[in-house]
Amino acid sequence: MSDTRPRLRIQLFPRAETAVRAGHPWVYDSGIKSINREGDAGELAVVYDRRDRFLAIGLYDPASPIRLRVLQVGKPATIDRVWWLARARDADELRAPIRETDTDGYRCINGDSEGFPGLVADRYADTLVVKLYSPVWLPRWEEIESVLREVFSPRFLVLRLSRNLAAPAAAAGIHEGFIGDRGDDVVVFRENGIRFESAVLHGQKTGFFLDQRDNRRRVEQLAAGRDVLNVFSFSGGFSLYAARGGAKHVTDLDISAHALEAAERNFRLNDEDPRISSVRRDRIQADAFRWLDEDERTYDLIVVDPPSLAKREKERAGALRAYHALNQRAIAKLRRGGILVAASCSAHVSAQEFLGTLREIARQSGRPWRELWESAHAIDHPARFPEAEYLKALCIEFG
Ligand code: SAH
Repeated sequence: MSDTRPRLRIQLFPRAETAVRAGHPWVYDSGIKSINREGDAGELAVVYDRRDRFLAIGLYDPASPIRLRVLQVGKPATIDRVWWLARARDADELRAPIRETDTDGYRCINGDSEGFPGLVADRYADTLVVKLYSPVWLPRWEEIESVLREVFSPRFLVLRLSRNLAAPAAAAGIHEGFIGDRGDDVVVFRENGIRFESAVLHGQKTGFFLDQRDNRRRVEQLAAGRDVLNVFSFSGGFSLYAARGGAKHVTDLDISAHALEAAERNFRLNDEDPRISSVRRDRIQADAFRWLDEDERTYDLIVVDPPSLAKREKERAGALRAYHALNQRAIAKLRRGGILVAASCSAHVSAQEFLGTLREIARQSGRPWRELWESAHAIDHPARFPEAEYLKALCIEFG
C-alpha cells in the first residue's frame, strides 16, 4: 500500500538547528519547534531551516527522546537502497586495514556514526551478527538485510534485537536468530591470528568485545616475563594476548563461571601456539570489588576493564567512584615497575573525567609513575560525535 500522507516536515529551535548543521546526528524532542503531523517509527523526515530550505533528512521515532536520527545534512538525498549500499560500502572500505592482520572478527557497521543509527553489524568469520537498538529499522528490515548480504557476503546472518524491540519486531513478523541458513550458535574467528569463540546467538552484545582489539595488542607488547592479572576477564581476550606476548603467568578474574569457561575454551583453541599453551594460569571466580580488597597477591601487569558502570547519566558519579576504588586497589597490587591498563566503556563518563580520575589516584599512590599510552576508539568503532565516544583507556607504569 503506498503512503499518500505528506512527507514529514520538521523545523527546529535555533540550538538544535545549529547542532544539526554542524553534523550532530541526533535531534531530541525538545529541539523540535514544529512538525506537520505525527510520524511512524522509521519514517523519513525532512528538516527545513529557519528560511525554509532543506537542512537534513533522517529517520523519525515518535517514542524515543531522540526523535530524529539524521542521515544526511546539507544536500538533499534520496534515501533508498542505493544510498544504504553506498554507506555500507564506505564502512567496509574503512576496515580494509583490519583484513590485512589475520583478523576475521570485527565490527562492520558502527551505528549512528556510519549512517546506520541504532544498528551494529559484527562479523565473526562467515557469520554476520546484526543487532538493532532502534525500531526505525523494522519497516525497512528486508531492504537492509539485502544490502548487508550484498556488501558483506556472509554465509550466515544472525539478527539480534535490544529488549525494547521484542514486541514491535514480533508485531512486524521479525524474529531474533539465524535468518536463512542456520549456522553454529558458537562461531570461531581470528583476531590478530588468535582464535576466539563468539556466542553469536546468546552472548553479551554480539558475542565478543571486539572494541578492545587494539588495546589487547598493546598489552601483548608489554607482557613479556610478567605476572598478569586480568580483572573482568570475560572470555580471556587480554589474557590470550598477554600469553602470546610472553607473560610468565596469567590470572583471569571474573564473577561469571560462564565467562571463565569461555576463556578456558579460548585457550584450548590456541593450543598450537606454544606461548599460549605453555603459560601458567589461574582463574578466580569472584566479585572484583571485594576480591581486590581482600586478596594480598601482587602482579606486574594488571588489566582493569569493567562492564559499563554508568548506563544512565545519573549513574555517572557512582561510576567515577567505582573506577577510583577499583584502580586504586589494582595499583596497590602492582610490584615495582608494574603496569596498570585501565579501561572504561561507560558512555556517560567522559575521557577527561576518567583519565583525570586515574591521574589523581596515580598521584595519590605516592609512587613514581609515567604514562605509557592512552587510547580511544579503533577504526572499526568510529565515533563521529561526542555521545558515541564511550571507550577510553590509559596505561601507567609505576615505580
Ligand atoms: N575485558 C573483557 C570484557 C569485559 S566484559 C574483554 O576484553 O573481552 C565485563 C565482564 O565483567 C563480564 O565478563 C562480567 O561477567 C564481568 N563482571 C561483571 N561484574 C563483575 C564483578 N563485580 N566482578 C567481577 N567480574 C564482573
